[in-house]
Amino acid sequence: MGRMASSRRDLAVRATVDQGLLSPAEPVVALLDTAGIRASAAALTSAFAAVTDAPVLHAFAVKATPLVPVLRLLHEAGLGVEVASPGELALARAAGIPPARTVLDSPAKTPAELRQALALGIAVNADNLQELARLDALVAAAPTASPLGLRVNPQVGAGSIGALSTATATSKFGVAIRDEGARKAVVRAFLERPWLTRLHTHTGSQGVPLALMAEGVGETYALAEEINREAGGQQIDTVDIGGGLPVNFASDEETPTYAEYARLLAATVPGLLDGRYGLVTEFGRSLLAKHGTVLARVEYTKTSGGRPIAVTHAGVQLATRTVYAPGSWPLRVLAYDAEGRPRTGDLTVQDVAGPACFAGDLLATGRELPLLRPGDVVAVPDTGAYYFAHHYAYNSLPRPAIHGFTVDGDGAVSFTAVRGAQTLDEIVAEAGGARPDALVRQLSGAFR
Ligand SMILES: *Cc1c(COP(=O)(O)O)cnc(C)c1O
Repeated sequence: MGRMASSRRDLAVRATVDQGLLSPAEPVVALLDTAGIRASAAALTSAFAAVTDAPVLHAFAVKATPLVPVLRLLHEAGLGVEVASPGELALARAAGIPPARTVLDSPAKTPAELRQALALGIAVNADNLQELARLDALVAAAPTASPLGLRVNPQVGAGSIGALSTATATSKFGVAIRDEGARKAVVRAFLERPWLTRLHTHTGSQGVPLALMAEGVGETYALAEEINREAGGQQIDTVDIGGGLPVNFASDEETPTYAEYARLLAATVPGLLDGRYGLVTEFGRSLLAKHGTVLARVEYTKTSGGRPIAVTHAGVQLATRTVYAPGSWPLRVLAYDAEGRPRTGDLTVQDVAGPACFAGDLLATGRELPLLRPGDVVAVPDTGAYYFAHHYAYNSLPRPAIHGFTVDGDGAVSFTAVRGAQTLDEIVAEAGGARPDALVRQLSGAFR
């Protein structure tokens, strides 16, 4: 890679303006740093290879960045995918991900979804005992190549963001194994089903400390050992440890690292890594977040109650979590001038607002930045996961174009389109534009 991610980003911002990808007519775009994504995939693979010889499938959680070219890039880098809906499975198939590299989780799989997954041979983790009963019928009806598992909730507690903590006492996910009678019921469910060969857990996302993640994995490993003892053999051959590595949104530093987490697992759950179990991981945010940047032009600047405000084209439609829950999801904002050069100058406390029509549409409040001017560019880094690929259609604002970029040794930047900007025709079509009379006709019918 050579260059640091921050210097690649500076070159890309300048080139985005130079090459006309960001302009008064197209005032917001998103960028993906292809080299950065490759580097994260390689770091993940080597981190686990350093602590275990067991086979490991690193299944990227598609929900983090549901973009077909991203899935294909990760597949080429040796990763698989974790999908949790028919839409995500369709994206994985469009990217050419083989069924053997695909894992289906989801707390609400329909019979049709389960049937399709089993017909394709995709690994399935059942969420609960009712779902196992559905699988009984499907497994009896037709042979399947799908490895089948059960998700458990080790109930080890919450991280700092409640909405993303999946291993609380009352989480909606998996079988809560500390509930009365639940552990016994899970062991029995396995003993009754020789085809059930995996355990799955996912302790949570952003905000869950590494030690708590490792504790959840440790509890799940202990249960696997117990089931195998009871079964008198290695019935459980694979443990899916989920994803959830937190991301540092405060600077360009990538911390914690996959290597730290892998070493922590090796120290705290050595038996899981000694080669008796295959592993599946399901990281999402930590693979993509640092490699995405939103760029938006400043349209106007003003002061209100003495506070300078820059009104930009990036707001709630791209940074939904940050706008609605700024305390949990702060994002950095970087200032560039109209040519895309880093803006220098005295730091001034200001608000950075989005384009949407509600007062809370702020990317940053009271942030110290060089004073922004109309035509300047703001960059919002760390938005490669759960941000610009998760468009929120407020005010019918269009989904922006997404460009992948690479930087060569001379600093020249090349772009490739990952997704085009949504057009006004598409917005109208998705809003029932082909049926303007649908409701009017219904009313006149009622009064006929
Ligand atoms: C969301 C999710 C993941 C990915 O979590 P990240 O925090 O993005 O790594 C993995 N597995 C399951 C089951 C999930 O729900």
